[in-house]
Amino acid sequence: MKNKNNYDYLLSDLTKLNGVGKKTMDILKKKKVNTIFDLLWRLPKSYTDRSLVTKISDLQINKVQTIRIIPAKYQFPRVRNLPNRVNCSDETGKIDCIFFHSYEGYVRKILPLNQEVTISGKITSFKGKYQITNPTYVSKDSSLIETVHNKYSLTEGITEKNYNKIIKQILENLPILNEWHDKEILERFKNESWNESIIKLHDPENIQNYKANFYQRLAYDEIFASFLVNSEIRKKIKKIKKTSKKISDNSYNQIINKLNFKLTNDQKKSLTDINKDLSSNSKMFRLLQGDVGSGKTIIALISALSVINSNFQVALMAPTEILARQHYTLAKKLFPENLSIELLSSKSENLDKKRIINELKNNKIKMIFGTHAIFQKKILFNKLGYIIIDEQHKFGVRQRKLLSDKGGDNCDVLLMSATPIPRTLTMSVYGDMDVSIIREKPNNRKEVKTYSKLETKMDDVIKFVKKEITEGNQVFWVCPLIEESKKLDHQSSVNKYMYLNKIFPNKVALLHGKIENDEKEEILYKFLNKKYSILVSTTIIEVGIDFPNANVIIIENANKFGLSQLHQLRGRVGRGNKQASCILMFKSNLSVNAKKRINILKNSNDGFEISEEDMRLRGFGDLLGFKQSGAKNFRLADPIQNEDLFILAEKQIKKIEQENINIEKYRPLLKLYDQADIINDIV
Ligand code: ADP
Ligand code: MG
Repeated sequence: MKNKNNYDYLLSDLTKLNGVGKKTMDILKKKKVNTIFDLLWRLPKSYTDRSLVTKISDLQINKVQTIRIIPAKYQFPRVRNLPNRVNCSDETGKIDCIFFHSYEGYVRKILPLNQEVTISGKITSFKGKYQITNPTYVSKDSSLIETVHNKYSLTEGITEKNYNKIIKQILENLPILNEWHDKEILERFKNESWNESIIKLHDPENIQNYKANFYQRLAYDEIFASFLVNSEIRKKIKKIKKTSKKISDNSYNQIINKLNFKLTNDQKKSLTDINKDLSSNSKMFRLLQGDVGSGKTIIALISALSVINSNFQVALMAPTEILARQHYTLAKKLFPENLSIELLSSKSENLDKKRIINELKNNKIKMIFGTHAIFQKKILFNKLGYIIIDEQHKFGVRQRKLLSDKGGDNCDVLLMSATPIPRTLTMSVYGDMDVSIIREKPNNRKEVKTYSKLETKMDDVIKFVKKEITEGNQVFWVCPLIEESKKLDHQSSVNKYMYLNKIFPNKVALLHGKIENDEKEEILYKFLNKKYSILVSTTIIEVGIDFPNANVIIIENANKFGLSQLHQLRGRVGRGNKQASCILMFKSNLSVNAKKRINILKNSNDGFEISEEDMRLRGFGDLLGFKQSGAKNFRLADPIQNEDLFILAEKQIKKIEQENINIEKYRPLLKLYDQADIINDIV
């Protein structure tokens, strides 16, 4: 029975499947397999040819093989933790079946004495005797196993046999879907239909055949679907009509005249993008992306002033209080004196908080700075016209959509991020927004000198630090990252703190994950005000805070970090005029590969370039900020292997946008690949 063009079958839960009970369903649910469609992406890892039955005399050690045997005797030890054992044989020899953590009843059931049974599994030898431990496939019905079976990476509690049966059942019932791709696109994949592709995907002949047309087609489906959803969200936001804001040179000059530097070209260009959006009649939803220290804050503040001058209120949200405070202090300096702006802090007195809430409501306060607390329910704006979110990489597409709804139709939204990502990922991570990029660094910026040092040269490093401190500079000391344990991370930073404190008494502060937020902000604040010379920390040095006086960063166990992460850490220093240094420390001599990575870092100061290299070296899953970005984890598509498909999808999306092509025919694709409610909104 074929379900013609009916994708409901694929989206239904597993109760639709024969032979899948509650137990199996619960196990799969835990693995986030909720629908039949989800099951399709649990791919065969390798396959075992069960059709070839081997005689015991011909067995090969350490290979998965299938044998037909007769169980002769059980051995159920009374001692706990000893395995159950069954002595078996065929006409050519003997073998023991070993069962760990199994019940007697189970063993008796699957290996009844004196009846021929077919089992399969890896053969080992112990004290000169063949053994097979926890056989992966057991059948009394030999006709059932005369076929090739896929070996799926199994979920505890579901037998391989059952799993194969389930997949087989789904493949037999696959609905035939109308093709959603254009002719030209499809030709690229030699016209492989979705349906045929899925069947080929599960064919053991095709395991890991990434280059095959069917595989490429399925990868493209996935990329295209994710881009299309993002593009539709963006279109939808852009359709929202708003009152335009007035942009005048006045706001610009008011701020620029107080600065002792000129904007870079990229800053100017980004500001032009933002101004165009603000003054238009549709809602702005824009990302300002720029490397650490590229000068995003100024752009945010200039545009904020335009909005205020257009008689709207502005809210700026930062991830931490100290960062919110820094932005607030800068705005105090740059905005006209009579402008009423406030910082909403958890430390504010209650009376003060009440006043701020009141004055926001009656439009007395023009701009508010704070953490996510500024979006509490009790905070009501009189005429909110602009939301600015700093360092937003922790938000996913859906969270951003909620945010953009927050301020109402008249409210423009600007997100800022210092996490450069590779070009191919931009559409999947930020495709729901318009993007402005600041690539260029302010030209007074000196490049941070990057060195690598063996840990055994600690004395040299200490000498160097002494010299810098004497000159009044400050030092970040990032402690070894120990993958195995958070507790150890904490311990290693405490140890380093004690070690350094002996050498530099009263000059060292310590920051690690176990320190409460309030105290953390206090420590950072003191460091910012030069109460300490060295800040020892685990990786958590706040993103975004400007420490103009910090000049040196020392990163221990540097090989445990990704390049992008090292680059971000390095970006904490070198904001002032003095030459800054970054010292990467290593436990032992570097491997060729590690040297390659470090050289990339030494030779480039461009976060975008580094993120590309990082992705090539480590895969995209580990990229800093990518996981947190909420971007989809692709099932098949790989931004490195399938770069061409990402580019193709982007082109296709642009075409759809520009030619205003109806996307109704993509509905099944979107329904299947993006099962969230958002689809109901956009298609
Ligand atoms: P980020 O993009 O990381 O948020 P900031 O906005 O904090 O960077 O800017 C980092 C530092 O660079 C600040 O001290 C800021 O005053 C300074 N800055 C910004 N733009 C320029 C420029 N065009 N020329 C020189 N310095 C600049
Ligand atoms: Mg910043």
